[in-house]
Amino acid sequence: MELWQQMIRDSVHTVDELVEKFKIDRRVAEDLDEFFQARINPYYLSLIRYPNDPIWRQCVPDKAELEDWDAEEDPLMEDAMSPVPNITHRYPDRALFLVTSQCGLYCRFCTRKRKVGDYEKISMKGLESAFKYLEEHTEIRDVIMSGGDPLMLTDIMLEKILQRLRSIAHIEIIRLGSKMPCVLPQRITPQLCNMLKKYHPIYINTHFNHPWEITPESSKACEMLADAGIPVGNQMVLMKGVNDDPAVVKELMQKLLKIRVRPYYMYMADETKGANHFRTSIETGLNIIENLRGHTSGLAIPHFVIDAPGGGGKIPLLPNYVIHHDEDKIILRNYQNKIFSYKNYKDRNNPEKKNGKNGKNGRNGKLKLKELEFTKVELPVLEEVEN
Ligand code: SF4
Repeated sequence: MELWQQMIRDSVHTVDELVEKFKIDRRVAEDLDEFFQARINPYYLSLIRYPNDPIWRQCVPDKAELEDWDAEEDPLMEDAMSPVPNITHRYPDRALFLVTSQCGLYCRFCTRKRKVGDYEKISMKGLESAFKYLEEHTEIRDVIMSGGDPLMLTDIMLEKILQRLRSIAHIEIIRLGSKMPCVLPQRITPQLCNMLKKYHPIYINTHFNHPWEITPESSKACEMLADAGIPVGNQMVLMKGVNDDPAVVKELMQKLLKIRVRPYYMYMADETKGANHFRTSIETGLNIIENLRGHTSGLAIPHFVIDAPGGGGKIPLLPNYVIHHDEDKIILRNYQNKIFSYKNYKDRNNPEKKNGKNGKNGRNGKLKLKELEFTKVELPVLEEVEN
């Protein structure tokens, strides 16, 4: 047995352990276990510094999960968009492929609480029909392996799946959604990296939510993947009491870049049954982006998105930098709230477009003095947004 497998075995997961280790009332612990089981492996457990800290909140069952049921079990309608077991086909050229129900840690905020951890709900029996669907749908050029966590599979099983996917000519990109580099970095072994790099182009999206998760172990894991030629991106979920603070997110993003992980998405938490206590206001997220843009490298700034309820897909959100926009120009503010005007481009080969509605003598030439003066105006500093 490999070290990471032993660590899964040594995880905190029984009601007795929850009662003893975290002083959870036995009846509550039993109800929580029934709703969504616990799995806290020794590595992630060692990152907890004090009760209810940002690491604790992500992994220790909380009675709030039993109280905030005012949401859907499947908010993203993944099951409704599943043409065959194990596949969700929402976007035109890519498909989600669930290959296991198991994870290295069961995150209390998980959107797939309804099926993660349950062998019956994501079953290997569905793999054959999933492969057949992928073979028949030639428009699918990008497959995202998820679950559960695909790196819970053994190297041998994972390689079988990768071989099969690589035998499908129209599949160009294979992505793995894995939290292992963050929650159980011991899973990233030289053998795994050597195997994965035979099936390029492979991308991994991982899932760090707090700077305390960047440790010597997780740094080494991410660097090993990068050295194997695998671009690693990060998908952070914005969560109350975990990372709803601009300074925390900035530190996380900067530290991720140092370990060669590119910040990719920052999600608003999904409206998920039993996970609503993690949700923050949208203004909290916009304020975080406002505090990143211009204040640190663009490489460190993730796309801030809402995965739209009802299966609408990811929709980006930005603080409003546009003050005014017409056919001649756009008036913008920068990160310091200074205002700038940018002339719209007119197609020189098309006189009608060139002159615009107002003709040659209209407003397509120089900016008027009033607008130039405008560039020197400074807006008052934005008020801090409270959650
Ligand atoms: S690793 Fe992903 S799928 Fe597994 S419990 Fe955490 S969020 Fe859910």
